[in-house]
Amino acid sequence: MSRQYVTTAIDYPNAAPHMGHVLEKVLGDVVARWFRLRGDTVRFQIGTDEHGTKIARAAEDEGISPKELVDRNVPIFKDLYDRLNISYDHFIRTSDQQEHWPTVQELWKRLEKAGMLEKRSYTGLYCSGCERFMTKRDLDEEGNCPNHKKPPEEVTEENYFFLMSRDTDNLKNLLTKEWDGESYRIIPKSRAQETLALVDQGLEDVSFSRPKSSLTWGVPVPGDSDQTMYVWCDALTNYISGLGYFTDHEDTTFWDDANVTHVIGKDIARFHALIWPSMLKHSDVKTPDQLLIHGFLTSEGEKMSKSTGNVVVPDDILEKFGGNPDPLRFYLSHEIPVGNDGDFSWKRFEELYDAKLRNEIGNLLNRVLVMLVKEGGILGDIGDPSFITAKYEDYSADMDSFRLSDGLQIAVQIASDCNKYIDDRKPWALDDAEKLGVLSTLAEALRHCALALLPFTPDTAQRISVQLGVPYADRMLDKEFVITKEMRQFGGQKDWKKVGEPSILFAPLS
Ligand SMILES: [Zn+2]
Repeated sequence: MSRQYVTTAIDYPNAAPHMGHVLEKVLGDVVARWFRLRGDTVRFQIGTDEHGTKIARAAEDEGISPKELVDRNVPIFKDLYDRLNISYDHFIRTSDQQEHWPTVQELWKRLEKAGMLEKRSYTGLYCSGCERFMTKRDLDEEGNCPNHKKPPEEVTEENYFFLMSRDTDNLKNLLTKEWDGESYRIIPKSRAQETLALVDQGLEDVSFSRPKSSLTWGVPVPGDSDQTMYVWCDALTNYISGLGYFTDHEDTTFWDDANVTHVIGKDIARFHALIWPSMLKHSDVKTPDQLLIHGFLTSEGEKMSKSTGNVVVPDDILEKFGGNPDPLRFYLSHEIPVGNDGDFSWKRFEELYDAKLRNEIGNLLNRVLVMLVKEGGILGDIGDPSFITAKYEDYSADMDSFRLSDGLQIAVQIASDCNKYIDDRKPWALDDAEKLGVLSTLAEALRHCALALLPFTPDTAQRISVQLGVPYADRMLDKEFVITKEMRQFGGQKDWKKVGEPSILFAPLS
């Protein structure tokens, strides 16, 4: 048993949530659910990054205040995540002056005290789309922002700088070996090498505030009423403000005594790998343990964009399946190994739904249960599991190592093995005693398939288990539910005697 703190990046609610948000939340959720199922104590936090000029401008365009805009948009994110079955324990909002701001302002003061902040006049290249200063290195060959395809403007202003250049050696140590006994794991390894290459080029100091005249919507800098905090100090701090850090209700157990995993996208990897540990170091807070970095999602092989017209809207996918989030959760987990870029294609989505969920798993369950119910529905002796090619140990090793798509493929493999076993043994042609044995063995294999599906497609896993009549089925979605040794054993569920009523698990696509 260990303590786990899992976070995702906080979302920018200037517009509706998109597939990139969904990919990340599903990944974080699968990880959090797996930790709970193996018996860890878990805290899973998501949230929204609500400040900055982009929000302020969007609000201005609509003739409302930034606060009104975020108060309207944030519930849209929460509602989507609830419908996707994202099992977060806490939702943090950076506009929350009671919960978030005290920690951020205290952290700022600590960095100032440590001599890590300096006010300077700064002239730089600012991309208003990205809301950040860019270095020449960030620009493409034509000198344009690679995200916005236009040149950044030259801007001169007073900024506080975070003196990260001083930490170059420390950060190199952190990424290569250890930093005061702590080390930072970056998954996949290729991202760690990219980050290290940045350190080797030499780190620059980071703009940590902007004049209030150009950034009004944000956390005020303590002791300098002309300055507003810029995104890094404000947003990154959400991971500890949610724990009440530096306040009288601080709970350090999910940081100091926990394994801290930040699930993030590759575009913000370097800020998490460099700025964040450096900030924590100089405010006497433990370095997180690992970064789990996902890639980007394209649509039909191309970058999603309004102009290409290939934007996939999460709600369209949910609607197609009557609100059932599992086909989408299944697709993302099955098709995109952690760390890789992935593609959303309707054709592939429908193929996978038909072949794996509906046929391999759904039809199998139905066939087995219909035959078992015809025999009276009482389970007989459970036979030899050697027809199942993968073992629970392989599955749990994959899950522990974040090879999540491999783990999901093992769950599906159990169903494929069952289908092959039916074809080999032809239970309908056997005498009654043998028939009951084969069908009971298949039902037991399906119980294991459902357990392996549980982190990925929780509702489906429960519905399979309810139909099978497994005694723990109604508890499976509780956060306290743990996969016990008895559950993992083939034939280990001694209190399970009778199967339930079969019903169609996945409807055909219309
Ligand atoms: Zn830009």
